Amino acid sequence: MASIYLDHNSTTPVAPEVVEAMLPYFSGEFGNASSIHSFGQRARAAVERARESVAALVGARPAEIVFSSGGTESDNLAIFGIVGADSRARKHVVTTQIEHHAVLNACQALERQGVEVTYVPVSRAGVVDAQDVRRALRPETVLISVMHANNELGTVQPVEEIGRIAAEADVYFHTDAVQSAGKLPLAVERLGADLLALSAHKLRGPKGVGALYVRKGTRLRPLFYGGHHERDRRPGTENVAGIVGLGRAAELAVANLAADAARIAALRDRLEAELVARVPHARINGAGAVRTPNTTNIVFPFVEGEALVIALDLKGVACSTGAACSAGAVEPSHVLTAIGLPADEARASLRFSLGHETSPADVEAAIGIIPGVVEHLRELSPLYQKAAR
Ligand code: PLP
Repeated sequence: MASIYLDHNSTTPVAPEVVEAMLPYFSGEFGNASSIHSFGQRARAAVERARESVAALVGARPAEIVFSSGGTESDNLAIFGIVGADSRARKHVVTTQIEHHAVLNACQALERQGVEVTYVPVSRAGVVDAQDVRRALRPETVLISVMHANNELGTVQPVEEIGRIAAEADVYFHTDAVQSAGKLPLAVERLGADLLALSAHKLRGPKGVGALYVRKGTRLRPLFYGGHHERDRRPGTENVAGIVGLGRAAELAVANLAADAARIAALRDRLEAELVARVPHARINGAGAVRTPNTTNIVFPFVEGEALVIALDLKGVACSTGAACSAGAVEPSHVLTAIGLPADEARASLRFSLGHETSPADVEAAIGIIPGVVEHLRELSPLYQKAAR
């Protein structure tokens, strides 16, 4: 029903150029990239070209890129891979309270295996203090995992400073860049990252494919065992079409990054300024922090976020409450709770995330629709009636 898509942090439409690049690998170019014959060689060449494109996106060498099934696997490979391979058997990990569940639940699984994990809190604006991360370090800390940009708020974390802290302490540093790849410039050297995760479907590529940057010389235990693919780090026949799609998406991201960021930020700023002006009591979550250009998270007190998402969908606007992956869960978002929002306000918060395809007309239409829908739901809300009196 919805025609205005403001949920790009959940997933993006696949770019036509990406579809075009992938199509031959479903038909004529179906070879297995490990085969010696020419079918295989052509598939291998395509995979290696894509590796170069992904490496260029993050400022790495192609040999440092491992293809995976997406952001979740890349995060898990980084976390379990580092802890499982540490020659000093260090058993403490530092992360934050606002990581994606791909990191948080991996850390909880580690805890069940006897690894200690510190979940560093964040400010009200949704940013971790790098010095708090430093203070959490112990002699037995093996890994720091802090995301580059938060998926719900868009807040950018001080990864460069954390990278320096990690290097000084001789601790590995992993950053989940799933929400910053294609939105912010990425350079693994500048970020000081030893490991960096990204996912194709957040940057106009296909679902089910991603990559992990692993700094040269880093020892990593694989998640699964099989053949010798991906330099023994990720066995399994390569998803050639998906990898080609990720490579093309990475090239487009590099080409469009600066222009998209400026254009999308202007649209996002207009959307949030108008909504805050037109909807009484509306406030921006993560205000005051540096944020990705495309994301705004707004609390509309006295409404139920899920009801608002459904009502907006019926009016043609697609957006989400917190993380799409936890939609349907009754629990308020862990990110909004971590920034100090009471449960009712966390449940009354919506995320609007714009993308390459978002037009000024989309934003104007959304501005025209959203305030009325909020108002309508509030009229039905006894809480609002009571507060308004
Ligand atoms: N990390 C972050 C910050 C995300 O936003 C997501 C997806 O929402 C993931 C990891 C998981 O990526 P994937 O959907 O490719 O498994």
